[in-house]
Amino acid sequence: PPVLRLHDIHQVYGAGEASVHALRGIDLDVAQGDYVAIMGPSGSGKSTLMNLLGCLDIASHGVYELAGHDVRSLTERELAKVRNEEIGFVFQSFNLVPRMTALANVELPLIYGGVRRAERRRLALEALALVGLADRADHQPQQLSGGQQQRVAIARALVTSPTLVLADEPTGNLDSASTEEILDILDSLADAGRTIVIITHEENVAERAHRIITISDGLIVRDTSTAGVLQ
Ligand code: ADP
Ligand code: ADP
Repeated sequence: PPVLRLHDIHQVYGAGEASVHALRGIDLDVAQGDYVAIMGPSGSGKSTLMNLLGCLDIASHGVYELAGHDVRSLTERELAKVRNEEIGFVFQSFNLVPRMTALANVELPLIYGGVRRAERRRLALEALALVGLADRADHQPQQLSGGQQQRVAIARALVTSPTLVLADEPTGNLDSASTEEILDILDSLADAGRTIVIITHEENVAERAHRIITISDGLIVRDTSTAGVLQ
């Protein structure tokens, strides 16, 4: 079964004449190990879709299943647990906590998850090693380059072994060399079987994914695998 399934998802903001129909019937299955890029022009509904996929928002209509959970049926508390345990978020602006070490930043999701100190440390160091930053564990974000900060953020996203890695314009604030580093890491995660959904408006970033979905005006208008086969 797909790890992520959207069926006839609609999202409407506001009511009456002023309402905006941001998503107008999205159907999407993502399988375990898929590496998916979502593209589309400004205003097409990418952020709206991202907020739904990340369980930050609930759709006005339609079904979203993530790792066997029907998201609509969850309480706020259960949603928060799903967000923390099933989803690893990566943001354009890194969102690291300043004046906390890289290691402490990566440990944060495990603190929320109630993991004990020694185990937290072990898992966080393992995640930092995975992004090539074991030797920067004691550095604070402001002592790291943008690319390194984003690698710490990826380690933080991975530390809970989430079902889904959800990245919103992860290279939007990076130069081309750092962008390449991040894309290489995403490649290796995909090779290791991680499920990745990335939102980007950069063609060269999307091309690295195994599947490119284009949305326009709240609808999926194209769904292409790297083999070039239209679904
Ligand atoms: P994108 O991320 O592709 O730029 P968005 O998902 O932000 O697109 O927006 C899709 C549409 O929904 C746009 O018309 C936008 O103005 C509208 N929209 C997004 N968020 C809100 C909101 N909170 N209230 C009202 N309209 C919104
Ligand atoms: P992005 O460029 O990342 O897609 P946007 O500028 O579209 O971000 O949106 C920034 C924030 O404003 C989001 O939280 C979005 O939901 C909200 N938003 C977008 N369009 C509207 C709108 N027309 N009315 C109210 N809120 C909006």
